[in-house]
Amino acid sequence: MSRLLLNRRQFLGKTGSTLLFSAIGSVLSTTALPTPARAQESERNVLIVGAGLAGLAAAYELNKAGFGVTVLEARSRPGGRVTTYRDPFADGLYAEMGAEYVDASDEYDHKYCKEFGLKVLTAKLYDGIFVRGQRIAMAALKSGKAALPYQGTVPGRLFGQEAQYTKQWVAKIRKKKPLHPEILKLDNLSVVELLLEGGAPQDIISLYTYLNATEATARPHEMSALRMVRAHARGGSFNEDVDEGRILGGADQLPKAFARRLSGKILYNRPVRRIAHDRTGAQVWFEEGGTIQTMRASKLVVAIPFKVLRDVEMTPHFSREKMDVIHTLGYGHVMKIAMQYKKRFWNEPGSIGQRVFTDTQLRRIYDMSIDQPGPRGILMSFTAGADAEALGRLSHDERVRVALNETARVWPEAPKHFEGAAIKYWNEDPWIRGSYFFMNVGQRLDFRKVAGKAEGRVHFAGEHTETSSMDGAIKSGVRVANEIKKAG
Ligand SMILES: Cc1cc2nc3c(=O)[nH]c(=O)nc-3n(C[C@H](O)[C@H](O)[C@H](O)COP(=O)(O)OP(=O)(O)OC[C@H]3O[C@@H](n4cnc5c(N)ncnc54)[C@H](O)[C@@H]3O)c2cc1C
Repeated sequence: MSRLLLNRRQFLGKTGSTLLFSAIGSVLSTTALPTPARAQESERNVLIVGAGLAGLAAAYELNKAGFGVTVLEARSRPGGRVTTYRDPFADGLYAEMGAEYVDASDEYDHKYCKEFGLKVLTAKLYDGIFVRGQRIAMAALKSGKAALPYQGTVPGRLFGQEAQYTKQWVAKIRKKKPLHPEILKLDNLSVVELLLEGGAPQDIISLYTYLNATEATARPHEMSALRMVRAHARGGSFNEDVDEGRILGGADQLPKAFARRLSGKILYNRPVRRIAHDRTGAQVWFEEGGTIQTMRASKLVVAIPFKVLRDVEMTPHFSREKMDVIHTLGYGHVMKIAMQYKKRFWNEPGSIGQRVFTDTQLRRIYDMSIDQPGPRGILMSFTAGADAEALGRLSHDERVRVALNETARVWPEAPKHFEGAAIKYWNEDPWIRGSYFFMNVGQRLDFRKVAGKAEGRVHFAGEHTETSSMDGAIKSGVRVANEIKKAG
């Protein structure tokens, strides 16, 4: 790996510009850049941008295979969207402010948890529903004793109510492989448009907002109808019966376990501002304590969200398809609010439940502390889409006030036990600026293939190249490591 250092003054001098440091991206494009010596380059040196699970998994596997790896990370910690807060809470309680659940089918999560000695616990299923001011026990809904106060729903279940209005399309998908152009056209329709066209009442769209759209962190009018129909053709997506486990002691232990094994090879607080690539390798420019540094290697792995990559200068541009996906991939809005209470009133007789789907601004509210010692506990809100965006416009104190009021609608006794809250709104985080990818209207069907395809010496990892999960992120890192190993 070759390296060259410029301090900020020298850098600005070279650019002949007085523009502020934050505007470096635009300055770089017009300037002759320093060229580090290429002679030291070895075919087995790999630069990796981003120490989220994708970048870490790639680095870990390449390091094991004898490659020289250097990871450049903008933050001072590994893990990206996996972060566990401990300090804001009493009695050793902790809360997952980013990724939390490990599904039974998450093969890569389970593989590496086992390798690093981490235990995955089964979480309790949702047991309550609070919609339109009504409290409904999940068991009562499932047995048919209670019904959802929404027009056009089928009894006995919560998720998938929209399926009855998409049947004709699902049948066509199942019959025709590859997809018929008529089906492909659905990509130009939103979920709302398709459901209305299929005769669904507005209530079904409202319900979809609080259920699948919340899971996707998006709004139904921006989500691709094609994606919804394909999910139904595959037998459905997330629902109330998904077995979601959690990593005992905190999800951040997984990225930390990778990072510990790579310790000297990760450079923190190094935001990358520019990437250049050619036939023999790739070069990156990054900030380092007020200076601009540059490094070159024979291979580069880009493992940062496309929402951030959009603002990194890329020379020359990647293929038209890749640039298109980088610039248009959909990202949602998401906020998590962890509320500490001095007792776990949600477990007491008369409570609606410990894990509740709601149509409040807090959307899903659940016991974050089920596998942690009491008597104190943490209620977590996972809120998304328009509600997260609206809360995001408020100050911290106002967000807390809304959270308390909304929680009190579900559990009236909540305010008297409240002790404090921690909030993470991912759209205001400069290194993601959103939640995770979702397929928006007009999104290319092959976007994942395009997003993850290597371009010359540059490889692409990240949840957006697989599935929007920790599992997808790790899988993408392993895939990229295999691509590089195969190329030698
Ligand atoms: C609120 C929330 C809840 C979630 N819940 C779940 C869940 O329950 N289960 C699940 O499996 N998944 C969940 N996810 C999704 C999961 O967190 C992500 O899919 C996964 O962690 C993404 O990993 P990644 O490595 O692709 O990206 P990231 O984790 O975003 O990592 C990218 C890294 O790149 C760094 N970076 C960005 N820009 C630069 C730059 N210019 N230079 C250098 N470094 C840079 C970032 O700081 C970051 O560390 C959730 C996500 C959120 C936000």
